[in-house]
Amino acid sequence: MSEKDLDEQWKQVALTLSQQFGEGVYRSWIQPLTWSSPKPGFIICYAPSRFMKDWVIAHYREAIAKHWKAINPEIKSVDVDVQGAPNIENSVVAKEKDLTSAPLLKTDDLPDEEDEGLLRLDPRFTFDQFVVGKPNELAYAAAVRVAESHQPAFNPLFLYGGVGLGKTHLMHAIAWHIQTTQPSKKVIYLSAEKFMYQFIRSLRYKDTVSFKERFRSVDVLMVDDVQFMGGKETTQEEFFHTFNALVDHNRQLIVSADKSPSDLERMEDRLKSRLGWGLVADIHPTTYELRLGILQSKVASLSMSVPKEVIEFLALRITSNVRELEGALTRLVAHSTLVGRSITPEGAQEVLRDLLRSNDKRVTVEDIQQHICDFYRVKLADMLSSSRQKSIVVPRQIAMYLCKQLTTLSMPDIGRRFGGRDHTTVLHTIRKIQADIKVDPELARQIDVLEHTLRM
Ligand code: ADP
Ligand code: MG
Repeated sequence: MSEKDLDEQWKQVALTLSQQFGEGVYRSWIQPLTWSSPKPGFIICYAPSRFMKDWVIAHYREAIAKHWKAINPEIKSVDVDVQGAPNIENSVVAKEKDLTSAPLLKTDDLPDEEDEGLLRLDPRFTFDQFVVGKPNELAYAAAVRVAESHQPAFNPLFLYGGVGLGKTHLMHAIAWHIQTTQPSKKVIYLSAEKFMYQFIRSLRYKDTVSFKERFRSVDVLMVDDVQFMGGKETTQEEFFHTFNALVDHNRQLIVSADKSPSDLERMEDRLKSRLGWGLVADIHPTTYELRLGILQSKVASLSMSVPKEVIEFLALRITSNVRELEGALTRLVAHSTLVGRSITPEGAQEVLRDLLRSNDKRVTVEDIQQHICDFYRVKLADMLSSSRQKSIVVPRQIAMYLCKQLTTLSMPDIGRRFGGRDHTTVLHTIRKIQADIKVDPELARQIDVLEHTLRM
């Protein structure tokens, strides 16, 4: 089956897909794909981004395979991958082989399970595409420093923070940078689970010597999510020795986790202490500004425009982590391509209902009271007192109203938290504010701002 035949077939498949799914889907998801056939009967379609890859796999891969097989029964499988993601560990293997002038090892020749150890760098996870803000500036600066140094800058660099805040992104970015600027360096990036898996496997095949050699001969070792080693004593011990060997030989180690070294659970003390030796950089939860920046940069890379209000809406409401934020944007864009309508804030609210609900921050009565007192410059004690001064009554009413809006407390509860007021007073207050908002745009605007800033 020649390349040319396959190309003809691909065109036919694409045409069928465009008839099946429509022009919009075709242009967004099918047209950008390229393909190759690494061996007879196997097709890999390449998408320009990881997101597109996931989307195509979830929605169109089966159809692509079905149509292709229909016109060419020799096709066995159709896979989808990201364009141009090099395979670091594989290139390390290749380099080692180069040195001994042995023939290059091709991926095809590797036994299946060897694939488990291989890692692809995500082409989007570069320094360029990392948006820097207050919450991550230390981690970013440390990562750049390590990537640019020829000697270990800090050993280890320990990055930690909650899920989806950019740890893996920064590690890949370091790897990309070193691969480009110091290509002779051997870099291995892997998750703690992969480390464990390979270690256990080397025990099983009584091949720990080559395991040790492999990890101890690198210039830069990155182990992602070491919290997974919690409770795995043998692996921890092996990691501890690897760690020491690398540090002794002045090789760079980079480690990430969801907690600081001292907070890691079920981790040997000596390992925890070692992990804290170098620079410990934490990534804090995102701020509104950072979320806005990230969204703007993601939108800029799309071929579609997203209204400013929608971006602000997402930045305001999807506060959990960057992964969800991206997911929300992705969903909106996908939805909009599919239904062929542009994105509006109302539409976003509809499409993201479940995500928004899980992101709604638990706002407490104390938060609300404090926030309103700060805004209107009244004392908390006055707000909770029985004062009838207008400058105090209005903020108090707004605070009670927002408690009803933003918490799940009942009217009697709210009354109790406001200096022991009666629930009918609360009810009356809420009705009054609801009525006032309708006739007083300035009040409505203030309450809107207060509500938004409380949710941030
Ligand atoms: P973690 O490893 O901390 O769980 P990831 O590095 O996988 O998080 O990040 C989750 C997603 O959010 C990735 O797609 C990543 O590109 C993106 N992301 C996180 N932080 C940033 C940032 N500051 N700028 C741009 N994208 C980011
Ligand atoms: Mg990660």
